[in-house]
Amino acid sequence: MNIDLSEENKLIRQLAKSFAEKEILPKIKEYEQKRRFPRDIIRKMGEQGFYGACFPEKYGGSELGFLNLAIIAEEISRVSASIGSTFNAQSMTVPFTILNWGTEVQIEKYVPKLIGGEWIGFFGLTEPGGGSDAAGSMKTRAILDGNEYVVNGQKVFASYASVADVGLLFAKTDPDAGHKGISAFIIQMDRPGIEAKDISMSSLGNLTKTCELFLTDYRIPKENLLGNEGEGFKIAMNALDYGRLTIPARSVGLAQACLEAAIQYCNERVVGGHKIGEYQMIQKLIADMTVEIEAARLLTYKSAYLKDKGAATTRESSHSKYFAAEVVWRAAQAVYEIYGGYALADEYPINQYLAYAGLFRTGEGSANIQRILIAEDALGWKDANRHNMKRRFSLKSDIF
Ligand SMILES: Cc1cc2nc3c(=O)[nH]c(=O)nc-3n(C[C@H](O)[C@H](O)[C@H](O)COP(=O)(O)OP(=O)(O)OC[C@H]3O[C@@H](n4cnc5c(N)ncnc54)[C@H](O)[C@@H]3O)c2cc1C
Repeated sequence: MNIDLSEENKLIRQLAKSFAEKEILPKIKEYEQKRRFPRDIIRKMGEQGFYGACFPEKYGGSELGFLNLAIIAEEISRVSASIGSTFNAQSMTVPFTILNWGTEVQIEKYVPKLIGGEWIGFFGLTEPGGGSDAAGSMKTRAILDGNEYVVNGQKVFASYASVADVGLLFAKTDPDAGHKGISAFIIQMDRPGIEAKDISMSSLGNLTKTCELFLTDYRIPKENLLGNEGEGFKIAMNALDYGRLTIPARSVGLAQACLEAAIQYCNERVVGGHKIGEYQMIQKLIADMTVEIEAARLLTYKSAYLKDKGAATTRESSHSKYFAAEVVWRAAQAVYEIYGGYALADEYPINQYLAYAGLFRTGEGSANIQRILIAEDALGWKDANRHNMKRRFSLKSDIF
């Protein structure tokens, strides 16, 4: 593995950085304050080929590959964790899962519009009974009635559901079959029987539109089943496998934002006649952040590199997700400490950094769930890559 980025990777970083600084930075505060959903920014990111980095050109993809996707998600999240959050639903968990499991008709109908930022997607797995045991706690039920499934149940924390056009929904088709009784569906929001209610999350800036979702006799045409009946859990795990590339990349970007804010403040704030950066206990915080962020970045790029090789990477996704989320959590606490009382002032983004860092530790398999997966693999009890979750399509950017 070459740990130098290629000229292409550097150009992509520059492109994403300049997009974030020109198209996101000047607008984002106003969008958050007015709770205005950034549909226009999402569309522009789609047009830039950012969401389509890991998709074949024939479905509207830009074929930049996984490492470039990680770099793009990192640079966007450095400027706005809220906009960075769109990468999962617009790039990985929804369209990439359809690409991996869908029929040609499903791929052609949904993928280009999602990665182009024309349609908004959501991923409906978590239920109120507990996200860490998604399969065990699932109560949402889908019953086949002629050519349609009739769905009743409730989801929670479904990001973007209230503004979405389409989503992936997981429901039990055979409640007695455990994991094997779950099925996955592509659903449209313009049908009766579905209602999304925003959960207010002002600490995150109110743009992630995290929702409760209520389904009452909601009907899904049979052709919208994704994969086969009973494959839903495998499909959800596969979706999270790829989602766990963007979460560490977003964590690294946000951690970098924490470090940059900390460095600026250390050089500006004078207390007791000294810049606070001159105090050695503050320097320890800066040193730890600097080195840990670089280590998290390398682990993230390693996982992306292996994905570019077409390898199964459940283990590496988990390593990088776990470590990068711990690093951003520590970086957010460090910058919070460095800003003293000003960390709480709305004028600074420090509170939001901490909230997003907390989300990165919890979402897509909490820190504890990653610890379990990593330890059981290391102990030789359960090979993390045993399901061999490889992707289905090759890309021009693949490394052979
Ligand atoms: C802002 C936001 C956006 C989200 N977006 C989505 C989305 O788009 N789609 C979606 O489906 N979900 C989404 N989620 C849900 C997210 O994936 C869950 O919050 C996560 O899986 C944890 O589930 P939970 O919150 O129910 O916590 P719980 O499962 O109740 O866990 C609570 C605590 O107990 C710990 N714990 C649980 N089980 C164990 C165990 N076996 N061993 C040790 N510790 C354990 C956990 O680590 C955690 O610390 C989102 C969540 C948030 C906050």
